[in-house]
Amino acid sequence: MTRGPRLPHLTAALVALGVVSTLAVGAPATAHPGHEHSPAQGPVVASPEDYTPGLGVVAETTYTVDLDDRTINVDLVVRLTNQIRDRVRDGYVEQQYFHTFTVPVLAGAEQVRASRDGGGALRVQVRPGDSDFYGLAEISLSPHLYHGRPQTVRLSYQIPPQPPRSGTLTQVNEAFATFPVFVSGDPGQASVTVRLPAHLEVDVVGDDMGSTTADGMAVYTATDIADPAEWFASVVARDDDALIDQTVTFGEHLVRLQAWPGDDEWLEFTADLAERGLPVLEDAIGVAWAEPRELTIVETSAPYVYGYGGWYEHSRSLIEIGDLLDAHVTLHEMAHAWFNAELFQGRWVNEAMAEVFAAHTMDELGLDAPAPDPVDPEAPGALPLNSWANVDLENPETEEQEAYGYNTSWWVMDTIVDEVGVAGVSQVVQAAAERRSAYPAATTDSTWDQVADWRVLLDHLQDTAGSARAEELFRALVATDEQAADMDARAEARATYTELADAADGWALPEAVRAPMTRWEFDQASETFPELTELVRTRASVVDQLTAARIPVPDALQERFEGAGDLADLRAGLRAADDASRSMAAVTARRDGADPFTALGGLLGGVDLHTTTTTDALAEGRFGSAAASAARAEAAMDRATLVGAGAVALVVVLLGGVVWFVLLRRRRRAVTAP
Ligand SMILES: [Zn+2]
Repeated sequence: MTRGPRLPHLTAALVALGVVSTLAVGAPATAHPGHEHSPAQGPVVASPEDYTPGLGVVAETTYTVDLDDRTINVDLVVRLTNQIRDRVRDGYVEQQYFHTFTVPVLAGAEQVRASRDGGGALRVQVRPGDSDFYGLAEISLSPHLYHGRPQTVRLSYQIPPQPPRSGTLTQVNEAFATFPVFVSGDPGQASVTVRLPAHLEVDVVGDDMGSTTADGMAVYTATDIADPAEWFASVVARDDDALIDQTVTFGEHLVRLQAWPGDDEWLEFTADLAERGLPVLEDAIGVAWAEPRELTIVETSAPYVYGYGGWYEHSRSLIEIGDLLDAHVTLHEMAHAWFNAELFQGRWVNEAMAEVFAAHTMDELGLDAPAPDPVDPEAPGALPLNSWANVDLENPETEEQEAYGYNTSWWVMDTIVDEVGVAGVSQVVQAAAERRSAYPAATTDSTWDQVADWRVLLDHLQDTAGSARAEELFRALVATDEQAADMDARAEARATYTELADAADGWALPEAVRAPMTRWEFDQASETFPELTELVRTRASVVDQLTAARIPVPDALQERFEGAGDLADLRAGLRAADDASRSMAAVTARRDGADPFTALGGLLGGVDLHTTTTTDALAEGRFGSAAASAARAEAAMDRATLVGAGAVALVVVLLGGVVWFVLLRRRRRAVTAP
């Protein structure tokens, strides 16, 4: 959703007023020169209980919607009673009377007519009201309203189609009608009826109205309204079949536009933003729509009734947007096709993302992008953004909270965009879309099955986008007090985590700590730190020994380390790997410095064989076997000098035998020679 035109505030100005005057009957002016009454005492100040003391008003208002005729007809029937008794004072009869009766009428009212039952037409004048959604019809009472002579007065008018974007809350065309419903009358003496063709889709927002259907008409009523000045509803009626359709494509996706008949300007404006804006949005966000989709964008000022510019309904892939041609609002709603409850949990996050990507798209399209207002944490309606929940129209603070929530969300993300760029935020969005943990490892799957919330967002803003400001912004404007305490625990855990991760020298820490860090379970994460400190040391030792042994550090070891959910199991594996690598380092060192006898002994004693077996076992992650064969290699190395010397001795003996044999043969030959 986006913020839209503000809902009007109703005040006592909206109720019917009578103007009272006083007439002194039969008073000789000379006898009582000081008793001249002023011709009128002026309008009586309205109070919540009774707006014109002394004037009884029983009122029945009927609104009838006729889309075919494109009119809203309003009829008001009021029974007026002058409750001020005539008084006899100093021999005079003093009569107070009402000469006008004023009621609010919808802005755009035409053919305003007033009449008196049993009489003729009454003069009626419409003047502007305090806000541009209503005017005031002042009916001249004829005859004046005296005590004991009640009158029934009728007022009727029509609302014709208003030009789109005329700024009123009243609109009617072949496909759509919306209007505010208000009532006149004394407390408990006002009723209202709204009649619409039954096939229309109708939404009544605001105070309750009962509904029935009769003669093909849907009838909404409220009777005996206790506080007419406070009573207010808005009616939205629509016949979407009467909307004008246009389809544009976005890659393989279809965007269906549905406009009010005659509002070509809206259609052209929205089609252009769909065609040019959606590709820019997709590019900037960096996440493609997975499935071919059909997005529908409907022109309706229904959101205005709730104080919004537009809204997006993900389950129906539907945007409803008002007639005001506001590119930021339109692109914001389009951005919600990405930023919805499937991508981020938390209202403010999706709103903030929609705002910044809509503004960025405007920049890219060469439009003048708006910027958020500076944030005032003391503003009325201020609340931690994580507490900014879905709208509660019953809550009197809603309007201020909505204003604060939208602007502050946007401001927070806009500030981060200033720091890390749209591309940086886009990386975070992609990480969220892929459900990646902010604590990943190269050798294992680092996704988790959870829609990113503010915590994952913060993790990725810091670790993926490299934002230095996110933490401070989240503390100041996003987190509740309780969540701020979580952030303290997080900061502490991350300090140790970072030290350990640095010591792991390019390897990720084991799953056993990354998982609770991802889930913000910092107590659980912290419990692993002492053990991890040892394991990281052992890891370094293994790597050092293997390097000394000139054995490549096996991927399997990194995999075992990073993927370890059970640290006891990892400890056993690492110790075995440590034993193996230590033995192999010793073997290598001794071979490097070995005399020829030892080298020969090593060869003959199976050191090479055991070394190969060890290396293979390490590569395959069989660290126990590696340790065993490394021990055999080392033992073979221990025996190598003896074996080598023995072998040489044996060779010498054998060689001696051969020499002796050859000599013997020669001698024999010599003996037998002729
Ligand atoms: Zn929104």
